Amino acid sequence: MEFQHYINGQWTASSDGQTMPVVSPATGEVVAVVAKGTRDDVGRAVAAARAAQPAFQKLTAFERADLCHKVADEITKRREALAKHLALEQGKPMQAEAFGEVDTTAKMWRMAAEDAKRLEGTSPQTEDRRKRIVTIRQPRGVVGAITPWNFPLAIPTEYLAPGLVTGNALVWCPAPTVAGLACLLMECIAAAGVPAGIVNLVTGEGAVVGDEIAGHPGIAMVGFTGSSATGSLVGKRAAGKPSLLELGGNAPTLVFADADIKRAAESAGRGAIWNAGQICDSTERILVHRKIHDEFMHELLKVVAEFKLGHPLEATTTLGPMHTAREIVRIESHLADAAKQGAKIVVGGKKAEGLPTGNYFPATVVDGVRPEMLLNHEETFGPVAAVLTFDDEDEAVRIAHGSPTGLAAAVFTSDVGRGFRLGEQLQYGIVNINEGSAYWQLHTPFGGYSGKTSGHGRLGGRYTLEEMTCVKQIVFDIGG
Ligand code: NAD
Repeated sequence: MEFQHYINGQWTASSDGQTMPVVSPATGEVVAVVAKGTRDDVGRAVAAARAAQPAFQKLTAFERADLCHKVADEITKRREALAKHLALEQGKPMQAEAFGEVDTTAKMWRMAAEDAKRLEGTSPQTEDRRKRIVTIRQPRGVVGAITPWNFPLAIPTEYLAPGLVTGNALVWCPAPTVAGLACLLMECIAAAGVPAGIVNLVTGEGAVVGDEIAGHPGIAMVGFTGSSATGSLVGKRAAGKPSLLELGGNAPTLVFADADIKRAAESAGRGAIWNAGQICDSTERILVHRKIHDEFMHELLKVVAEFKLGHPLEATTTLGPMHTAREIVRIESHLADAAKQGAKIVVGGKKAEGLPTGNYFPATVVDGVRPEMLLNHEETFGPVAAVLTFDDEDEAVRIAHGSPTGLAAAVFTSDVGRGFRLGEQLQYGIVNINEGSAYWQLHTPFGGYSGKTSGHGRLGGRYTLEEMTCVKQIVFDIGG
């Protein structure tokens, strides 16, 4: 498959004609060739977006919502092809996960459509009898979206659908390793009849295309999902602009002695291995009360053993390859650090042999992890469940706070008071009680805790619509 940028309603080559391959982590084969964007390409996209946005803003929310529903229809029409390409280009198992992401993506376009119809302004009270005040929400203008590779259809949609439905134009830079999929999603948007210039796609290297988007004076707002390190660069480049930064996580799950141990092990085990652990709110660390450690481990190992590593197009596969070799290097370094300091790799821990690429890594459980190990304080982003033990609630909280991130946490306990108390106390943007850290409903606010490295702003339902609009007040003097 060969693709170009999509700028001003046209498929168009890079200004210097360069292209780049997109390689499947599952097979090592080139699955797409895409345009390698330049700073000039971003300039063209921003100019097109700025020219198109004012007329688009005049449509009603209901008219823009219709477009979102049409995008969802186009996604659903291409369900099979999208899921297959998603499995090949990103690596997630087609049956177990890729169809789910395609369906969720279509649902997100529909949810944004319906949420936007109900976005309201206010009519504040006034001190002055001659005045009447209304507030309205207006689009920011041109929004830049920079997105990662772990959910290459759903995460871009978190920006594109709410951005479009609130009347913004967008310039989008996807991660280069999933740029073919971005072009397939762009085809759905184009086929839905979204006007030229409203959604523009520039593929290429993040350090060029993403950097130019973040800093471009014609971009009014930046939405970024990715690592904390890149997010901090983007935040600096976008200084002064409203921004949504959805960054890295290292979610702890606290399992107390009074918990339903089987249920906790199921949630934590699946939450650690799902999408090969490449989820920002993946269960990276499991903190278990010492008294129930052995029983919990027994249950956890049963859950983890159910994952079948293999080619993502095989119907029985439930764990695909890691997305790139870079991920494997980081996982191996975290495991080596843990082993060196005395932790025990109970299952997995070594790259699988005899599969089509070197990217296949088995579900791994490490026991005896301690707070000072990399597994506890850095994001591993792989299919690794790291198990630590604690003796009391204070120690559990201390360990949980041993990572600079603050995205999601989970607590398993049958003590309602403790659940509520920790829900309030833990410095994470989401705390799930008796549910795994990777659980999130799409219409609810998702994002990092202030003062941590997981970013700022909230994605989800009306929260994204609010971030992507600005409040204006209009004051009337009514005379009399
Ligand atoms: P990444 O930071 O490497 O890349 C993210 C995006 O930034 C890509 O499109 C990349 O091309 C672009 N980019 C790279 N350098 C850039 C630069 N200098 N300026 C502007 N853009 C640049 O992240 P990744 O490896 O693609 O994704 C994995 C990370 O994303 C993990 O840390 C994960 O936790 C995080 N993540 C967070 C959320 C969330 O909602 N908080 C969701 C998914 C993933």
